[in-house]
Amino acid sequence: MKNSNTTKRTKFIFVTGGVLSSLGKGLAAAAIGALLEARGLTVTFQKLDPYINVDPGTMNPFQHGEVFVTDDGAEADLDMGHYERYTNAVMAQKNNYTSGRIYYSVIQKERRGEYLGGTVQVIPHITDEIKAAVMQLDGTVDVAIIEIGGTIGDIEGLPFVEAIRQLRIDLGRDYSLFIHLTLVPYIKAAGELKTKPTQHSVRELRADGIQPDILLCRTEVPINDSLKRKISMFCNVPVDAVITAIDVDTIYEVPLRFHAEGLDNKILELLNMWTGKPNIKPWEDLVYKIQNPKDTIQIAITGKYVDLTESYKSLHESLVHGGLANDVKVELTYISAEDLESKNATELLKGCHGVLVPGGFGQRGVEGKINAITYARENKIPFFGICLGMQLAVVEYARNVLGLTDAHSTELEDKTDNPVIYLIKEWFDYRTQKIQTRDESSDMGGTLRLGAYPCILSDNTFAKAAYGEEEIFERHRHRYEFNNDYRAQLEEKGMVISGTSPDNNLVEIVEIADHPWFLGCQFHPEFKSKPMKPHPLFRDFIAAAIKHKG
Ligand code: GLN
Repeated sequence: MKNSNTTKRTKFIFVTGGVLSSLGKGLAAAAIGALLEARGLTVTFQKLDPYINVDPGTMNPFQHGEVFVTDDGAEADLDMGHYERYTNAVMAQKNNYTSGRIYYSVIQKERRGEYLGGTVQVIPHITDEIKAAVMQLDGTVDVAIIEIGGTIGDIEGLPFVEAIRQLRIDLGRDYSLFIHLTLVPYIKAAGELKTKPTQHSVRELRADGIQPDILLCRTEVPINDSLKRKISMFCNVPVDAVITAIDVDTIYEVPLRFHAEGLDNKILELLNMWTGKPNIKPWEDLVYKIQNPKDTIQIAITGKYVDLTESYKSLHESLVHGGLANDVKVELTYISAEDLESKNATELLKGCHGVLVPGGFGQRGVEGKINAITYARENKIPFFGICLGMQLAVVEYARNVLGLTDAHSTELEDKTDNPVIYLIKEWFDYRTQKIQTRDESSDMGGTLRLGAYPCILSDNTFAKAAYGEEEIFERHRHRYEFNNDYRAQLEEKGMVISGTSPDNNLVEIVEIADHPWFLGCQFHPEFKSKPMKPHPLFRDFIAAAIKHKG
């Protein structure tokens, strides 16, 4: 264990989930982090995902949810987004591991002969690799919150559970804590809350050698004291460590609810820590603001609701934050991009105060998204295009203003005579400080531009007005780029290039000056917005939508 006199030891909280998935383990972990920060402690997080993919980068977001991108270019689990939004922690490669990544590293070591001829096994080799991944965080913060993905009882999660069981022995009680999130379902027909699933889930966890210290019980209705006593008795957890995690109207209420249940006090008591009183006022103010908006704004997003809620989690939250910055509630209307191809855009988009075309990959609904952009541009409705949305704004402008009717992105039509968005052959990569090359034959994952890149803003633009800064850093995740061969023509006809890479080679932001607010960015600003610090582009987009509403 890394422990010098200069670095303090980190305390570890391990969060597991029981009964079923989707109970909000990530949010619970994030909310715990928020409460600890409210007490002046420093926190970080790690998500351990049991699946075999090395990272979620190639996974279908409609199946697995959003792929979150970190500054250092990790394609990571969407829980990283919750962690960053609720706290000051900055996530990176070391904050998300999958079974695949752990096995990959063990297998590479085996090939290099590092196990000296020994038989390589789940215990100890895989579990040691997991423990080493966790212990990288030691000494970096006061408390590290480690979330184990999946549900207790899953076969594939076992090595992680075994690793944290061992870590309790290595770290000792004052430095490790087990929190188990479980479900206490309300059975309408009986008019009763049922504790049996929780009992079974804790029994399962104990069979794996882990006695939870605290239970977070997800429930629709409050859990009264006698039921808490019952859970306490059957699960071998003190009654004041049985915490109600009741359904809330806004996810930003979770830290307050946990605090009211005494969760942060209990955590500190069990970890043997002392801090001042927590300052939860910012969270109270935030929730008050969310619950008392002055107006409601309608934003149309191209994409089906079912596809968009999990796969565009950060985007969704950023729009909420943009609303908070302007004291309004943002209502999102999801317009199917395929419907926008066959039906009239004016009909579908009527009544919206802003149009947003989000990022995406592939052909589906592209012409519909372009129709939405035409509608927003011509009718002077505030428009925000993100990544693919920015690329399509360029395509739309080239087609309808420059008259290059077949203009396209080569991702979507490789035979176009006017590839306004294309695979750039050579570019200087600020992250690696190297010249990078790309062509059609290079592999998919390898050619994505990933992570935070600098961007220089031009004066008198929407972007500069929003950020108020010369140089910004935003996170990218895309393969295709703006084609500089078309830059002069586009600029001549009124498209404004308001943000570029420092060498002026990569176009990062485009705008239309003769419009109330029309901006497309090649990066994903939604990965950096927080409820306490709404992102300037979302803030200004919503402000423009309010103006449009009049
Ligand atoms: N498909 C586009 C590209 O790869 C845009 C990606 C995105 O929107 N994240 O460049």
